Amino acid sequence: MWDAELDVVIAGAGGCGLIAALAAAEKGLEVAVFEKTEFILGNTAASAGMIPAAGTRFQKEKGIFETAEEMAEDILKKNHYESDSELTLALCQESARLIEWMVDSLGIELSLVEEFSYPGQRNRRMHAPKSRSGLELIKKLRMEVSNRDNIYLTLKSELTDVIIENGKVSGVEVDTSHGKQKIKAEKVILATNGFGANKDLVNKYIPEIADALYFGYEANTGEAIKIGEKIGAALDCLTAYQGHSAVDEAHGILVTWGTIMMGGFMVNKEGQRFGDEAQGYSEFAKEILLQPDKHGYIIFDEDIYDQLLSIEDFKNIAEMNGFKSAETVVELAEKLKIDGEALINTMEEFELATERGKDAFGRKHFPKKLTGKLYGIRVVPALFHTQGGLKINTHAQVLNNNNEVIENLYAGGGAAVGVSGKNSYGYMSGNGLLAALGFGKIAGDHAAKTIQERVENK
Ligand SMILES: Cc1cc2nc3c(=O)[nH]c(=O)nc-3n(C[C@H](O)[C@H](O)[C@H](O)COP(=O)(O)OP(=O)(O)OC[C@H]3O[C@@H](n4cnc5c(N)ncnc54)[C@H](O)[C@@H]3O)c2cc1C
Repeated sequence: MWDAELDVVIAGAGGCGLIAALAAAEKGLEVAVFEKTEFILGNTAASAGMIPAAGTRFQKEKGIFETAEEMAEDILKKNHYESDSELTLALCQESARLIEWMVDSLGIELSLVEEFSYPGQRNRRMHAPKSRSGLELIKKLRMEVSNRDNIYLTLKSELTDVIIENGKVSGVEVDTSHGKQKIKAEKVILATNGFGANKDLVNKYIPEIADALYFGYEANTGEAIKIGEKIGAALDCLTAYQGHSAVDEAHGILVTWGTIMMGGFMVNKEGQRFGDEAQGYSEFAKEILLQPDKHGYIIFDEDIYDQLLSIEDFKNIAEMNGFKSAETVVELAEKLKIDGEALINTMEEFELATERGKDAFGRKHFPKKLTGKLYGIRVVPALFHTQGGLKINTHAQVLNNNNEVIENLYAGGGAAVGVSGKNSYGYMSGNGLLAALGFGKIAGDHAAKTIQERVENK
């Protein structure tokens, strides 16, 4: 019946799948990774590569001492306590170990992001590759995978089913370039991300963002969720997602929210602000969809511009002249093709709000007065990825509707329920990679540990 037999089979070669593979392979297991596309990219490559973690040595070196409990509290506050608190804490407890393992065992250079803090994070806790780019991260993971002779990576191979025997998962069915294959495995890890690229599912579960650009990986069409549902897995928080308010549509590049968090603001085509931008870029996305032509303009100053040039994506936009700059508000408005008089008023109101430390929208985050040359860019809102999925426990094992473990099946990253609650406001920066890499590591370690225990007890 079987075409091949391995210890661990992983579907999806994004951040979650590759980390899970490396963790399981480190313990000497034979691992296969099946990737639907012909590339190793996924959303992980599109990301800014920022991984949050509490209690790392990189934080301590900078005098930042925080606990997993504090990090979990920040995440829970952001999602209004809608995510599972045990799962959230488990990920935060894993986070420092994960970062240090990636640096020490995988040789991936990561540093603490000191440029700015993201909404709701009490300390600097993002760790990222030097370029602040997920592409660098995934390339390094891929290189590590190819250095292991007990990991078999197969491209153009789509997971089409999970096979169950005697109530336990015993393998998978994969559609490969050699046809359908049945692969036997002691443990199966689903790392195929969510359903952001599946318009029907987005319309069904999160219609509020269905009109926005989808800025994630086209292959993420929700198979883990569909297969999981078929075999009786419980699904949770399917309405959760990461939106983003600032995609430079002209160049297809993300504009860092640092532009806002360092002191900028957003207006619509009529030169008017329309909300508290600092609450978070995810929930602000749906506000932009309500504006004329469904887009916005970020306004910031030279000082912010200069500091953000350290971020690869930002620098790329700058090199392609994506940002407009001007000495006066009117000149900037002209270049951006927005209402100049209204922008002058908005600028004056924003200056007053900066002095007072609050505004009519409830914004309290005004780190600096905008001075000198002004910069602006037109942006559109986007859906980055979905955050709900298969219900899992703290070992990343998939649960059924009675909260019982489905034997031998794990999920992580966008395929599983994340820690972003049930709404767009629940996404705290970093929740995506935290759930992908964190649950990938937890799943890989747990799968390896249980296989080794079984072998030892034989
Ligand atoms: C522009 C952008 C910026 C972001 N920035 C950040 C950030 O800085 N920090 C952060 O924490 N998060 C960020 N995120 C979110 C983060 O990228 C994701 O949460 C994370 O990468 C998900 O990892 P994953 O392994 O679950 O999925 P992916 O990396 O998308 O990998 C899934 C893989 O599974 C494959 N696949 C899909 N279906 C199948 C199938 N049936 N069979 C086999 N393979 C399949 C896909 O082709 C893909 O390669 C960002 C997202 C975007 C879009």
